[in-house]
Amino acid sequence: MSLLNPTHPANVFRFCPRCGTRSLGYDNEKRFNCSSCNFVYYLNAATAVAVIVRLPDGQIILTQRRFEPAAGKYDLPGGFVDMGERAEIAAIREVKEEINIDLRVEKLEFLASFPNTYEYKGICYYTCDIAFVAHYDGPAIFEANDDVQKVMIVQPSQIDFDIISFDSIRNILRLYIEKIG
Ligand SMILES: [Zn+2]
Repeated sequence: MSLLNPTHPANVFRFCPRCGTRSLGYDNEKRFNCSSCNFVYYLNAATAVAVIVRLPDGQIILTQRRFEPAAGKYDLPGGFVDMGERAEIAAIREVKEEINIDLRVEKLEFLASFPNTYEYKGICYYTCDIAFVAHYDGPAIFEANDDVQKVMIVQPSQIDFDIISFDSIRNILRLYIEKIG
């Protein structure tokens, strides 16, 4: 990942978290190393999930983001996977938190994964966003909760990609439209 990005962790972390000196180096790829105390830390992609909730008529759910990054843009329900959590469980949890519907693990189909960058409070998280499709035939009542300010129900072919939040979400939606429509 490009170190030209001023919010890349290598441009933000100044001190070794173990010995507190300014001896923390970065190998320009993924490894922090302190030349004073030999502290080593690998920077890896953070896992996140996004869910295409598909209704019986083929429409899907988009969620308008309440907060930065990409406040006001449209996203898929989803979020970061907690440590020790399965991606499928994170998908179900985030969908419940954001739009208050109940999905089951058996209803989730893996679609694809795409990398993304997520800037939050001056630091960039490099993520791997795992996309699932959920065929949902329960009650069509979708709340806008948590970090969602509005829910939009759309035919995938009608989506305006200029209002979509992130590269990964655009890639997920494009692939979905290509494969399923
Ligand atoms: Zn150190």
